[in-house]
Amino acid sequence: MPKMRAIQVSRPQGPFEMVEREIPEPGAGSVRIKIQACGICHSDSLVKEGGMPGIAYPRIPGHEVIGIVDAVGPGVAGWKPGQRAGIGWNGGYCGYCGACRRGDFFACQTSTLITGLTSDGGYAEYMIARAEALARVPEELSAVEAAPLMCAGITTFNSLRNSGARPGEVVAVLGLGGLGHLGVQFAAKLGFKAVAIARGQDKEPLAKSLGAWRYIDSKAQDPAAELSKLGGAKVVLATVTAGDAMAAVLGGLGINGTLLVVGAAASLTLSPAQLLGGRHSIKGWYSGTSIDSEDTLAFSALTGVRPMNEVFSLERAAEGYERMLSGKARFRAVLTTGN
Ligand SMILES: [Zn+2]
Ligand SMILES: [Zn+2]
Repeated sequence: MPKMRAIQVSRPQGPFEMVEREIPEPGAGSVRIKIQACGICHSDSLVKEGGMPGIAYPRIPGHEVIGIVDAVGPGVAGWKPGQRAGIGWNGGYCGYCGACRRGDFFACQTSTLITGLTSDGGYAEYMIARAEALARVPEELSAVEAAPLMCAGITTFNSLRNSGARPGEVVAVLGLGGLGHLGVQFAAKLGFKAVAIARGQDKEPLAKSLGAWRYIDSKAQDPAAELSKLGGAKVVLATVTAGDAMAAVLGGLGINGTLLVVGAAASLTLSPAQLLGGRHSIKGWYSGTSIDSEDTLAFSALTGVRPMNEVFSLERAAEGYERMLSGKARFRAVLTTGN
């Protein structure tokens, strides 16, 4: 049997192990992807550290995957070997449950399929993916460029485009990391007055180079007061994982403004009275499904939005993961297989 290299985690808090495994065969409704690149996302820590109950180990993490369809299982329509494909967090959906029939495929009620968590993911040379979870990848994007768009990209693009903000309105992006550096680019290219909020004056040139209209240094300035001076934000996209940083911008929302949360903070403390006068709301956002990924890739190819990446070969997965965890990666760590 032909073999592949893969990085697996055998138990919660266990090390990344480089192993040889048999190349898997796609079953009904699935394809095999010959993987070229896979981004390292903070959510990979759910596998590495054991943050989610029910994960079957050993598990190959990774849900920012770009590659080439290499084999097609029975019953798959629309895909053939040789096509470029990407897969993100959403690992598929049934199509027949109530949520799916209402078009809310992300909330499929019969199965929760998460790439690299409930099935093996992209820290490998090959993986199996359900066909409905695949996105088409435009030629303009390299595999390394496209990979982070499958989670960090879709999360920021899809939340912003569904936020209700209109071109010309003030949209702030809180945080300038893996998600935020893409969020600022998308906000600018979507035609918003993009305001970047981060800690430290040194990040202003970066924010401006990403297309920010204004920059707010939350260490030196009160971000709520500064946003109010700009007329208030229609939307603040919160990409940080600190609840107190989110609470600190609430006062900067404009009338009918929304705090749009995509950062998985542990808690958020606020006074509900703050929400009343301006009819403010707080909303969470799920990244999206394959068609949203495809739209994210196409929009990025069209407008020039690109992630800034640090690239690691597959065998350096542990190093790339540590770099991501340290918060020092500028701005996304991506594994390449050599395929
Ligand atoms: Zn992710
Ligand atoms: Zn369903």
